[in-house]
Amino acid sequence: MATVEKYARFAHRDRVLYGRVEGDIIVALEGDPFTAPRETGETFPLQGVRLLAPCRPGKAVCVGLNYKNHAAEMKQELPSEPVLFLKPPTSVIGPGEDIIFWPMVGRLDYEAELAVVIGRTCHRVSREEAEDYIFGYTIANDVTARDLQKKDGQWTRAKSFDTFLPLGPYIVRGVDPSDLPVQAYLNGRLRQDGRTSQLIFPIPYLVSFISHIMTLLPGDVILTGTPEGVGGMQVGDEIEIRIPGLGSLVNRVAAPGHPSRP
Ligand code: MG
Repeated sequence: MATVEKYARFAHRDRVLYGRVEGDIIVALEGDPFTAPRETGETFPLQGVRLLAPCRPGKAVCVGLNYKNHAAEMKQELPSEPVLFLKPPTSVIGPGEDIIFWPMVGRLDYEAELAVVIGRTCHRVSREEAEDYIFGYTIANDVTARDLQKKDGQWTRAKSFDTFLPLGPYIVRGVDPSDLPVQAYLNGRLRQDGRTSQLIFPIPYLVSFISHIMTLLPGDVILTGTPEGVGGMQVGDEIEIRIPGLGSLVNRVAAPGHPSRP
């Protein structure tokens, strides 16, 4: 069994750093964790920092309809190949940041997902090689303007608003991702409860498939799809995505200009 390691990106006063989490301490790194990280020796109490999204993806490659029961609730056929879309880097927020309910949006849905974090430049790799290119795993909420997704017939607008990709709190290495629970709690009530063992296209397949289309770079993320139970959120709601082993990603929904924690 591999050693479990946790990495975070965090703000402390006016600095933004990466670090390795050890219990309730963060050991700061020089640079990012992907390319030969070196510990600086500086440590911070976890309680004394603000956690940010744990990486800064150049792209977030997302898989639609990767759980059978979610495809059924969306009244969609099961895909014969992964259905891919992108979310822009500007949609990323960290734990505790607000998801904004923008005026253009009619229906704002949560989608609990396991996210793969790429660690090395990854181009045309086989399923067998895929694991060597994965740095670790984190939690994602693929926030979606469901009305716009239906109206537009393609997904760019619906998936791409600022704040529509909460990520975090940590990148965890050394966990087996093949049978993890993927859960969403809306205001404390369980709404999604799937397992990654139900993925139609499993992780090595996705990494290989995507790498034959676009080169994946360190820090890029792959969102592996959401299980059944997606639903709408309102301003003031708290949405928690929980993946035991990876932690819990909590965000609130706020109106523009009205932060949930003033
Ligand atoms: Mg999704």
